[in-house]
Amino acid sequence: NKQVVLKDYVTGFLKESDLDLVENTITLKLPEGSNEILLKNLYLSCDPFMRNLMSDIGILEKFLPYAPGSGVAKVLESGHPDYKKGDLVWGFTKWEEYSLVPSSRILFKIEHTDVPLSYYTGILGMPGMTAYAGFFEVGLPKKGEKVFVSAASGAVGQLVGQFAKLTGCYVVGSAGSKDKVDLLKNKFGFDDAFNYKEEPDLDAALKRYFPEGIDIYFENVGGKTLDAVLLNMRVHGRIVVCGMISQYNRAQPEGVTNLGNLIMKRIRMQGLAVTDYYPMYHKLVEYVVPKIKEEKIVYVEDIAEGLENGPAALVGLFNGRNVGKQVLVLARE
Ligand code: NDP
Repeated sequence: NKQVVLKDYVTGFLKESDLDLVENTITLKLPEGSNEILLKNLYLSCDPFMRNLMSDIGILEKFLPYAPGSGVAKVLESGHPDYKKGDLVWGFTKWEEYSLVPSSRILFKIEHTDVPLSYYTGILGMPGMTAYAGFFEVGLPKKGEKVFVSAASGAVGQLVGQFAKLTGCYVVGSAGSKDKVDLLKNKFGFDDAFNYKEEPDLDAALKRYFPEGIDIYFENVGGKTLDAVLLNMRVHGRIVVCGMISQYNRAQPEGVTNLGNLIMKRIRMQGLAVTDYYPMYHKLVEYVVPKIKEEKIVYVEDIAEGLENGPAALVGLFNGRNVGKQVLVLARE
């Protein structure tokens, strides 16, 4: 059983050398009377939150020695009545070929197999639920509102932009390369997009795209972007704080200086933890599956092959190497 192992707690920018590939043996048979589930991992998800768990000693303890993560898997054996051999599931597995997981672990049974299975690491998995809950439940969008999304071409951002268009909003995204900006405008249907790395003055850039201000900001990056957005929010605007990837590798978070705008503009700034919304997962499936089939929503993935390429794929999230949802394929069946 090949596994990706975390060598030690990570400080500073995540490096490939912080992770190691090891091999050991696992019995592909459940012990007598066990209520655990034995999984063969097919697709693993590369997620920014994994970096956070690697530096927080308190949380990490639960996951050592393997890198924590989620993925799509096939049930090889089950000691739990809700799962049977051959079922396809997605949820929190580990970065390894085979996983023995307790039946208390969050595992969703995959009902729709007429869409790519890898989608359950993205649009039909944790990032999809994040985009859906964040945009609709926290953002409370109304037709005609102006929406700004950062890290807009990624696993979550590309969906927020498409949900905004389907709701009748005007949406602009920021991303870190020309290719990503083209993708936002030409593939995902954003009204406009810009490369934040080529904008020395983010406040001026936002004033260009939002002369009347922003109603909803879907926050994925934090830092300087958030500070510039605060200057450009409209009265009664909403900031959905989903993530702050620009801060995850920093020992000291950057200061945000424009929070005073929250007061007179009566802005609601609300954090989001996707785990709160899993009880409404069926709503995501009902909303998204027909739209995938009718091609009203598209989903771009960046596929890496083999566990040995996992560390590089994970590090790539923090320098923008991924174009779309970063998936790691271990096996296709
Ligand atoms: P992505 O697929 O968007 O990958 C990360 C992207 O972030 C990179 O491709 C890069 O794109 C961008 N990025 C990396 N470093 C920086 C930086 N310093 N400044 C600006 N942009 C940067 O990731 P996800 O869609 O999976 O996640 C997006 C955000 O959502 C993250 O912050 C994540 O932590 C958060 N999240 C929160 C959840 C919750 O429950 N609250 C659940 C899931 C995700 P580019 O080339 O454009 O710079």
